[in-house]
Amino acid sequence: MERPSDSVPESRENCLKITEIFHSVQGEARDAGRPTVFIRLTGCPLRCQYCDSEYAFYGGQWMQFDQILQQVAAYHTPLVCVTGGEPLAQKRCHQLLTRLCDAGYRVSLETSGAIDLAEVDPRVVKVVDIKTPDSGECPRNLWDNLQHLNPADQLKFVICSHDDYRWARSQLGSRDLIEKDVIFSPSYQQLELRDLAEWVLNDRLNVRVQIQLHKILWGDVPGK
Ligand code: SF4
Repeated sequence: MERPSDSVPESRENCLKITEIFHSVQGEARDAGRPTVFIRLTGCPLRCQYCDSEYAFYGGQWMQFDQILQQVAAYHTPLVCVTGGEPLAQKRCHQLLTRLCDAGYRVSLETSGAIDLAEVDPRVVKVVDIKTPDSGECPRNLWDNLQHLNPADQLKFVICSHDDYRWARSQLGSRDLIEKDVIFSPSYQQLELRDLAEWVLNDRLNVRVQIQLHKILWGDVPGK
């Protein structure tokens, strides 16, 4: 893992606050298992009870877009995931996404679903959380974002309990998500993967049950 430099740029116009840039195996969504460069932006306005990225809430270092792209290029990896925190909490994230796409990377964005997605570059694959009641942040779901999903985008429910599961299941019908690419993922160390898989099978749900591969590989270690 490489940490951003400590230098403070004179102007922040072409900068973002970055917690870390690192190379790892994508642990979630459709590219799970693929080597990926992660750019973790600092800051998040949410406080999900299961958050594993609290270290990204504060701190970080200002980096210019050129510096970010330089570090990403050093890994010689075609996949780049922009994550957080909540990356879209920094408005200039949109510029970074476009710069990465223009540079030829296959770019994904992991977002809480609480910030408007209308302006996200259409070349970016969005992995959008739907916050469940047990997350503690359910009222933050910006349901209008569903109209901004492209066919390659994915919706992720992190499920903490059977009540959460039943709520998520009800959203599939009431929000017309049946045809979307939906992931049900058990909250780490809060729900058994097997329980979730059995509920999905019993209910004949057309969703993907998925664990966080990086947690199996490395546990709850930052920068992995
Ligand atoms: S949205 Fe993500 S980074 Fe923010 S508190 Fe929730 S889990 Fe943590």
